[in-house]
Formats: sequence, structure tokens, C-alpha cells
Amino acid sequence: GPLLRVKDLHKYYGNTPAVREVSFELGYGEIVGLVGDNGAGKSTLVKILAGYHKPDKGEIYFKGKKVEFNSPYEARREGIEIVYQDLALISTMPIYRNIYLAFEPKRGIFIDKKTMKEEARKFLKSMGIDVDPNKLAGELSGGQRQMVAIARALMFQANLLLLDEPTSALSVYEARETLNFVSRAIKDTYRGRASAIIVSHNIHHVYSVATRILVMDQGKIVLDIPSKEMSPIE
Ligand code: ADP
Ligand code: ADP
Repeated sequence: GPLLRVKDLHKYYGNTPAVREVSFELGYGEIVGLVGDNGAGKSTLVKILAGYHKPDKGEIYFKGKKVEFNSPYEARREGIEIVYQDLALISTMPIYRNIYLAFEPKRGIFIDKKTMKEEARKFLKSMGIDVDPNKLAGELSGGQRQMVAIARALMFQANLLLLDEPTSALSVYEARETLNFVSRAIKDTYRGRASAIIVSHNIHHVYSVATRILVMDQGKIVLDIPSKEMSPIE
């Protein structure tokens, strides 16, 4: 079955409908570009999936099981991870510490510093990220920080990555590098085990990495097509 199935989701802020009649499925290994103008409902939708908001109506099935998240923690435990630009890593801590920060509570084990550094080095290398794990997170470029945060989520067995405007604070070069990294991670390194939803207000930013495009307008999904069927001139 699909990794994710969303059925007739609705979310209102007071009387304002932010998400309406949203239904879609997501298979393993897909990279969905969720696009639409500001105010279309993209953030609200991913926040529902990440456990930050409860829908007013509708159902979510994840890995074949109906889920109702009461908190981001619960979504995370099931394997849905939202990666926030900038908020993801603690600038004043080394990379290896940042990686294990999220890992230790989940596993409930203590790992000594030397092992941590060694494992972090191996892990980053396996993900094709060329950074020294001893560096402080604040010393990395924006793109490197994003890649480390995304890699870390996958390392903690996230099956669904939610990336809300992941390139908006990056240079065009870093944006490319980061999105190519996501593509490699989903299509190769974690092949068949994970999927990603990349939110963007600009279809051109996600077009080349997405396997599928969902367009939202006024809370609804108005287009859901494989990106290869899409004309690059939109
Ligand atoms: P997008 O991410 O596509 O820009 P949002 O999900 O942020 O869209 O917003 C969808 C609609 O919900 C908009 O009309 C927006 O003004 C409204 N909205 C978003 N967040 C809130 C909130 N916390 N309170 C009230 N209205 C909100
Ligand atoms: P807009 O916000 O109107 O799309 P720009 O096109 O100037 O404005 O891009 C703003 C940011 O979007 C850039 O700093 C960059 O991070 C990201 N971006 C621009 N072009 C691309 C691209 N081809 N792929 C991914 N991200 C991009």
C-alpha cells in the first residue's frame, strides 16, 4: 500500500478555510513538490501531517494505519519529520553533537564522544555530505546545514520528510545542491524507504527534483500529476 493516504482533510482558522477537501496518496520513494501561492494552504497541510495541527475533518493513514497525532512528537515517533530551515541545528554545537542530540532520547542510550564523532563521520560520508563533524553547526553554509538536518532525520528512520520552503534562505547554488541532495537521498541512499514533500511557492524551484507535483489553490489540491507530464513552461 501507499506510505501516506490523506482523505478529505479540512482545516479552518475560525471561519477561514485553510485546507479543504484535500485527498491524495503518496508512495514510497516519491518526491512531491507541493506548490501554490502564499496563503494557498501548503504550510497548514504539512503542519497537520507533522502533528502541529489537528484537522477539523478527514483522515490520515500512514504505513497502512490510521493516525491521529496529538503532537509533533507523536508524528515523529511514527516516522514523519518536518525539517525547519535554520531551526534544525544548534549553531553553537558541533555537527556530531547535533546529530546525536535527537538520537539519544529516542534510543535511550548513552554514546561516548569518540564513538559519536566516528559514527557521525561515517554517516555523513555515506550520505555524501562533505563536512567535518567537529565543526560547529554555525560554521556551515546554509545549504550544508539543511543537508545535515535532512540526513539526520533519515538517520532517525524518518519515512516522510516534510520540507517547508527549504531553499528560501539559500543562494541559488546552495538551493540546487540541497535539492539534489534530497533527490539522491530519497532515490538512492534510502531507496524505497522514504519519501519527501517539498513545499514551495515557486514551481520552478522544485520542478526538476519532484517526481510529482501537487498544486494547491485556496485550500484545495487543484492539480496532482507526475512532473514528467508537466510542461516546463507554466
Ligand atoms: P501557505 O503555506 O500556502 O502560504 P498557509 O497554510 O500558511 O498557506 O495559509 C492558508 C490560509 O490560512 C491563509 O488564508 C492564511 O492567512 C490562513 N492562516 C494560516 N495560519 C493561520 C493562523 N495561525 N491563524 C489564522 N489564519 C491562518
Ligand atoms: P522567488 O522567491 O520569487 O522565487 P527568486 O527566484 O529570486 O525569488 O528565488 C528566491 C530563492 O529561491 C533563492 O534565494 C533560492 O534559494 C531559491 N531558488 C531560486 N531559484 C531556485 C531554483 N532553480 N531551485 C531551487 N531554489 C531556487
